[in-house]
Amino acid sequence: MRAFVVTAPRQASVQEVDDLVPAAGELLVDVERVGICGTDIELYTGEMAYIDQGLTHFPLRLGHEWTGRVIAVGPDTDDAWIGSRITGDTMLGCGACKFCLAGKHHVCPFRHEVGITDGWPGALAEQLVVPARFAHVIPEHVSVSAAAMVEPGGNSLRAVEASGVGPGSRLLILGPGTIGLLAAQFALARGAEVHLAGTRESSLRLGRELGVPYTYDIRQIGDTEDRFDAVIDATSADSSPALAIKLVESAGRVVFIGLSSGPSLVDSRDIALGDVTAVGILSASPGLAGTIELFASGAIVPDALVGETIGLDAVADRLEGNRGPHAGAGPKVHVDPRI
Ligand SMILES: [Zn+2]
Ligand SMILES: [Zn+2]
Repeated sequence: MRAFVVTAPRQASVQEVDDLVPAAGELLVDVERVGICGTDIELYTGEMAYIDQGLTHFPLRLGHEWTGRVIAVGPDTDDAWIGSRITGDTMLGCGACKFCLAGKHHVCPFRHEVGITDGWPGALAEQLVVPARFAHVIPEHVSVSAAAMVEPGGNSLRAVEASGVGPGSRLLILGPGTIGLLAAQFALARGAEVHLAGTRESSLRLGRELGVPYTYDIRQIGDTEDRFDAVIDATSADSSPALAIKLVESAGRVVFIGLSSGPSLVDSRDIALGDVTAVGILSASPGLAGTIELFASGAIVPDALVGETIGLDAVADRLEGNRGPHAGAGPKVHVDPRI
């Protein structure tokens, strides 16, 4: 089968690789759509922290935001899965450690991360193997674009849940990328008053089209006297964590989901003296089921976030940071490995 393989920083190609064979408890999936995201870009360029930490090595098979259909199962595996339309958890916990037993397999120290850490090839390929216990069925009426956005959706839903916002709460989201815009949609659905700050006007405009009433240039929002009940940092800028803490109201909540390429400085006195709750979010895992429900009910329609859908051959160009000549305003690039 064909797969996108990164052999060294900024060196990648579509290669013919060995067909995958599902082991006991595993599903073989025909991949229909895969999103590429900031994590993929960092892995491609070699800047991802996991590389320095020795958690992943080249060659790498990327792709962790995906949907597809089960076409075969491994030995001793329920064949009722065959034909199901699924997505899967990125975080494959060991199932036996104290974190897994407590339902927090996304922080299992022995986990595989699909398409990210060593040993588990990702979805930027014609086929993918995943354990059945980490698969989630997606109803047929959910669009293929939305189905491939369940993974970023789960991250955004968790960020919004951690922000504690409800009807009438004032939420500021820093960063109108896919995570920020999905968080805006989830927060609007909860009745929050959503404010969105970013640098790119086309992304802020898309936010307004999705119903966000207030948008700002992030370079100027630090000057405002306004304070928000909660702030979500969904940027990759090392200056944003301190900005988020500055802009949150006393006794408010700050949620960190964006990752900068280096450490950020924050003054913990601002957190203590403001009685601020600061929360970090890693992974979509506990948010996947809720996201599928909200996409399936129509409460959230994320399709406008997809700017373009490309084939495997164009992936390296997009990971270099280029935008397609016909790309729309949406920040998400989707890949159809069958193109
Ligand atoms: Zn991602
Ligand atoms: Zn574990």
